Amino acid sequence: MSEEIFKKVVSHAKEYGFVFPSSEIYDGLGAVYDYGQNGVELKNNLRQYWWKAMVQMHENIVGIDAAIFMHPKTWKASGHIDGFSDPMIDNKDSKKRYRADQLLEDKITKYEKEGKTNKADELQAALDKVTLDNDLAGFKSLIEQYEIACPISGTRNWTDVRQFNLMFSTEMGAMAEDADKIYLRPETAQGIFVNFLNVQKTGRMKIPFGIAQTGKAFRNEIIARQFIMRMREFEQMEMQFFVRPGTQKQWYEYWKETRIKWHKKLGLGDNNYRFHNHVKMAHYADDAVDIEFNYPFGFKELEGIHSRTDFDLKNHQELSGKKMQYFDAELDENGKAYGNYIPYVVETSVGLDRLFLSVLCASYKEEEVGEGDKIDTRVVLSLPAILAPYKVAIFPLTKKDGLPEVARKIIDELKFDYNCFYEEKDAIGKRYRRQDALGTPFCITVDHESLENQTVTIRYRDTMVQERIPIAKIREILASEVNWSKLLA
Ligand code: ATP
Repeated sequence: MSEEIFKKVVSHAKEYGFVFPSSEIYDGLGAVYDYGQNGVELKNNLRQYWWKAMVQMHENIVGIDAAIFMHPKTWKASGHIDGFSDPMIDNKDSKKRYRADQLLEDKITKYEKEGKTNKADELQAALDKVTLDNDLAGFKSLIEQYEIACPISGTRNWTDVRQFNLMFSTEMGAMAEDADKIYLRPETAQGIFVNFLNVQKTGRMKIPFGIAQTGKAFRNEIIARQFIMRMREFEQMEMQFFVRPGTQKQWYEYWKETRIKWHKKLGLGDNNYRFHNHVKMAHYADDAVDIEFNYPFGFKELEGIHSRTDFDLKNHQELSGKKMQYFDAELDENGKAYGNYIPYVVETSVGLDRLFLSVLCASYKEEEVGEGDKIDTRVVLSLPAILAPYKVAIFPLTKKDGLPEVARKIIDELKFDYNCFYEEKDAIGKRYRRQDALGTPFCITVDHESLENQTVTIRYRDTMVQERIPIAKIREILASEVNWSKLLA
């Protein structure tokens, strides 16, 4: 996959109603995007894939939907008020702001692309060190030493490196004097932590157990890049798994394996995934790894798996004065009850938008079709059938002779279970191509023969093979091809 393909994917996403820049009529809003009529379907299906795999397939995991607004003390306890910041640097000529670590990472990627592995390794080691030490002057001197110039102005006229908190704030309360500063959540996880005992008690959950949640998160990212890869408003799908202290390593390994398997089931190519261990842990973690995906612009983080210790629950207990402990009645190997303790937590956290982008990039294909002087290129999204925005498109060959009525009747039977697309305009070939570009796995064409013998043509997206089948058989084919067990089993 190349940068060139990436540009095509981005324009395809807009042209076919998957993703639009937010408030586009006002020239957009930096790093904020809207999902269009087809994007929202794909996004909902991906969310469902995650929810089913995490909640429906695990007896000991339940879901919640916590509010985006939370008591401001939440963010004190979680460490986000004091520690959730990135090192930033400004170019004095272009007035553009950058993340210092990302400028250096881009240089590493450049060295890798040029085959200068030694240089890349050397800079990576230096970057790891300044990151680990949070050495702001160190970032600056690396930027100088490696002669990194601003991509806009081309100059090396940099400010010092400063810390920048990524949380958005606003006020709660109608009157100015009532106003109290609150934050838009920068992660969904805290809604789970503060509800830990509510869920445990009302659901009579026994350790180990998990709480899952999907929802919006907000980060004032210093630099917006790579389309929906780094957004200021995005969606996370997170699961906190509460375990006995001392068993976190084993669960961490379990979730690492489970999550990478889940990604690979999508069929985007096993080699497109890799683990990347963190050198610098977030303030809450004792172990952390990223699952990276091979995007057209290189391997980048798609999901984080963190062993969060008892950091969050302990701090919430301290700041709220409420006990965040679990009573474990089970006996250890010496016959002694474990008793009360604050559980340890292993978290899995995947960005829905980054997942969407991985699926879109890897399933976008341009294929040469036809023969001789009739060679043509078709664009196809080879999505797993269950994830496609439309599962089936139904076309009457012409607008008359009762064909639309037959087509409508087929839709009326299928629409309770499958999202169906109906179209009667344009040549059939054109209609097929439009569905290929949306990822619709099946097209059904109703023609004059259908009136005589109750058969239709079914066309398969990936092979473009067309078959004559009885109308009565459509359901059977859809049921065997479009089902969750293909991904979940
Ligand atoms: P990065 O290093 O890329 O900024 P992160 O390590 O800060 O990401 P986490 O805090 O671990 O990310 O968040 C978990 C997941 O949420 C990430 O793996 C990613 O998929 C998603 N995510 C985080 N920030 C963004 C963003 N700005 N836009 C879209 N998705 C995001």
